[in-house]
Formats: sequence, C-alpha cells, structure tokens
Amino acid sequence: MAAAVISLWPNTRPTLGPPIEEGFYYDFDFGKDKISEDDLPKIESEMHKIVSSWKSFEKEEVTPDKAKDLFKSNSYKIELVDELQKENQPLTVYKSGNFIDLCRGGHVENPGQEIKYFKLLSVAGAYWRGSEKNKMLTRIYGTAFASQKELEEYLERRELAEESDHRKIGKELDLFVFSDLVGKGLPLLTPKGSVIRRELERFVVDEEIKRGYQHVYTPPLAKTELYRVSGHYPYYKKTMYPVMRVDEDELILRPMTCPHHFMLFKSRPRSYKELPLKIAEISPQFRYEKSGELSGLMRVRTFILSDSHIFTPKERAKEVIKDVIELINFLNGKLGFEVGKDYRFRLSLGDRSDEKKYFKDDKAWDYAEDVLRSVLKEIGAPYFEAESQAAFYGPKIDVQIKKVNGQEETAFTVQYDFVMPKRFELKYINEKGEEAEPVVIHRASVGAFERTMAFLIEKYKGKFPTWLAPVQVKVLPITERNLDYANGVTKKLTIEGIRADTDERNETLQAKIRDAQLEKIPYMLIVGDKEQQSETISGRGRSGKDYGVHPLETFITNIKNDIETKSLQ
Ligand code: ZN
Repeated sequence: MAAAVISLWPNTRPTLGPPIEEGFYYDFDFGKDKISEDDLPKIESEMHKIVSSWKSFEKEEVTPDKAKDLFKSNSYKIELVDELQKENQPLTVYKSGNFIDLCRGGHVENPGQEIKYFKLLSVAGAYWRGSEKNKMLTRIYGTAFASQKELEEYLERRELAEESDHRKIGKELDLFVFSDLVGKGLPLLTPKGSVIRRELERFVVDEEIKRGYQHVYTPPLAKTELYRVSGHYPYYKKTMYPVMRVDEDELILRPMTCPHHFMLFKSRPRSYKELPLKIAEISPQFRYEKSGELSGLMRVRTFILSDSHIFTPKERAKEVIKDVIELINFLNGKLGFEVGKDYRFRLSLGDRSDEKKYFKDDKAWDYAEDVLRSVLKEIGAPYFEAESQAAFYGPKIDVQIKKVNGQEETAFTVQYDFVMPKRFELKYINEKGEEAEPVVIHRASVGAFERTMAFLIEKYKGKFPTWLAPVQVKVLPITERNLDYANGVTKKLTIEGIRADTDERNETLQAKIRDAQLEKIPYMLIVGDKEQQSETISGRGRSGKDYGVHPLETFITNIKNDIETKSLQ
C-alpha cells in the first residue's frame, strides 16, 4: 500500500504501518494533497499492479548512518531510526521492486503469488505517535486474506457489524445523544433510551433483592485518602480524574465502589451469622479514557455499574461464587444472551513472578484460583484460562461477550479478593468468638448499564423484546373519526403500565404503519369504525404479522403477560 501511495502521490511521506487484529494500516503525511475514500479503488488497483511484479522481500541490516541516508527526506523515519538506535535495536530494511522501508520483518515468501486478496477499507485522521500535539496524518486501513472466499466472508461480517452498530441505531431510534458543551464520552440518554436503562435497573435490583442482596446508595466521590488505603492511588492515577480541593480535604471522583462498601461493612461489628453479606449498588463511577478510545455507549468517561461486594468467610467463597455465576446466567438469559453461544467465561490468573503487579501470597493465590476453577467446572460453564490477566488483589472470572462482528469483549467480572480485607482491616467474629478476616467477592451482575445497552442495541438491532421497548404499542386510527377511540385505547394501556402512544398525524394508514415499523415498535393497534363499534383492536406486529381482531382486554392480558415474563418472542 505504501508503495502504491508513493507511486500515485510522489511527495507523500510514509510514517508507520503495523498489522492490526483485522488487517493493517499505514499513516501517511500527504503534505498539501488530500485524499478520501473515493481514492481507495485507485490505490488498490495500483497495489495489484505493483505487487504482481514483486518476487520477494529482500532483507538488509543497515547502520544508523546508512538508514538515515536512505530516508533522509522523511523526518518521521529519521525519528524512528534515532529511537531504535537509542534502544540498541538492530536496524533492518526490506526491499521489493524499487520500494524500500524500515521494517522488523516477517513477510510472505513470494509476494507476487501470495498477496492477491486484499481490500482497502477506510481513511481516517491520526496524530503522529497518537499525540494531539503532533501533526495530523492520514491513515488508510485495509485487510488481506489468503483466499477470495475468506475476504468476502470478512467483508460480509463487517457490513453486518456496521448495520448493527449501536451508535448508528441509537441515533436512528433516538436513544442517546452527545453534546459538545457537555463533553466527550458523556452520553445523554433521551427519554426513550432512559426507558431501557430504567427497565434494566429495575430488573437487576428486584432480582438481586430477591436473592438476598442489600441495595445501598453511597456518594460518587470520596477523599483521595480512601484510595491511598485501597492502593489504587497513586498507582491507578492515570485512569482517575484530577483531585479537587474542597476546604481542607482532597476529593476525587470514584473509579470504583469497593472502598465505600468496605466502610459500610466496618460501620459496626459483624458476626459470622450475617455472612455472606451482599452489599449492592447501582453505582455511578468515573474513569478517564483517552479521547481516541471513546466509542458511543461502549466506552464512556462515566458509567453506572450493577456493582456488589460480598463479604464471606473464606470457606464459603465457593458457594458465593456459584450463586453469582448462577445470577449472571439468569440475568443474561432474560436479556437473550445464551451461555456458550453469546458469551463464555475466562478464568484470569495472576503471573506470580511479577510482584509489582500481583500481591505476593502464593498460598492465597492457589486457594483462590482453585475455588474459581472448581466452580466453573462443577456447574459445567464454558470457560478457558488466561495467564497474567488477574487483578492485583486476586484472580477473577471474566464474562466474555461475543459481539456482532465475532470479536469477544470482556463485559464484566467476578473477582476474588484477599488483599483489600487486609488493607482495610475488615474483620468479623467467627463461630468460636474470634476475630477473623473475610474475603471479598467483587462482582457486577449485568455490568455497566451503558455497555449492556450497547450490546443489546447491537444484538436486537433496535427490535427490543417488548419489556425493554421504549414504546411498546402504537395505536393507529384509520381516519380522523377514530381519533377519540384511539386516544381512549392509549389511555387504557397507559393506566395498565403499558408504554403506548397514538399516531395522531393526518397521514394514510400505510404511512403510519411504515413509520411505526421503522421505529421498531413491537405492536401496532389499528382502529377504524368497525373496531370502534365493537370495542376491539386489530393487531399487527413490527415484522408485518397480522394478529387479527381482538377485544382490547384480551390484548392487554396478553401483552402484560409478555412483559411480566420478559418474553423474548
Ligand atoms: Zn469492587
């Protein structure tokens, strides 16, 4: 690609171009020229032309002086050479045809034969070395496969992912917005988006209370000192917001809820009879994310977590974690995420040799890892193990959700913690009347609501199950004469707790049906003279299914049953 770009725009300076998970990119300084995605086919055909004549990649190790001479008109490459020289790294260049580039190596044997099935995907702006202080370069993304079939399959998956992108659907269905004046990474949920968030929150809180969790409210900020005790400050300072000075205190927005819950635990003496004690909170948290990493509701700078800390004697940790996994499977199932298909578990272990990253206590690590592993085995959960992915205070189980594009993402975690109880001197009185130290299980049950919403929007492409749909029923009067009856129907539905709305516009029925379908509203109730006289409705689903004419009461009974059981149909 770099060779083709230089051949078409000879004054361009190529900078850096690494492989990435789904292909590759290269950042160019095009000088005064500007290119757009319209230029990609032209670059692609130049690439085909060039690469078909290439026989090999010839490697040469060069001295820094020679490298600087080779790239003397390219200050970016000179900077890279200087850096590699400082790190005492060998300098290698690779040559094909008349194209030469600074490169670590790792190439196909015969480019002309092997590099055929590639496609350029997009053009974006990117700062040199990722810093806003530097010049903005032009990044071209592409991908390559070993066969045409694989390339086509990838492009299909990519198109599907683009179609179900939650940012696109969120805009179309008016679920959330961003405001420059409010700030980056700070989504505002519209009334419709807020319905989804509220339904999720009610669902989680009600279910957790049924299972013995005690829900609390604690403030979203605290003294910096609290995070010094926990060990998060200053080590995790990079992901925290700056300190605020208030009177004599230093305050900071909280990056996690644990220490607040520890203080509740410590607020009075605790007996073994109260354990396991499950403190839970729908908890606003704040983490600094780089602006380049922000993405719709998936990555934000403040989020609400379905958080909980369970204080338990070490001996009972296993049953506690089993209950937690069971709860996660239950909640996920109600949202339509199938264990083994839409998500699986990752057992994240610590690298014991790295004492900077992991608390030194081999026995405690062994015990904790055993507990987590045996829970996953006993309940037959689909899982895999990953080294060096643990938190610094203990191993964890990550819930890995599969996204529409096939990639896995950690949605939330269950962590076993034997370090914080020591740091905060958490104690309880055991059966023998002695002081003992509990372990803490940190867990989320559906994760951050913003991310869960993003996953749900992408999974359902906006066609939410009825219980989550922002508007559940649209009442469509056929003529003006039926407007009063239609409004009466909407009112009855609203009183029954069903989210309904009348389409009062002076439009044809066809237009009203089309718009309700575009809004992905689960049910349309069509009412004309016939329905008005017999106090019935004519039902229609968003995918076009005709449910026929029914008494309004029958419809209400059925939809309420759907909502209460959180039916996915
Ligand atoms: Zn925690």
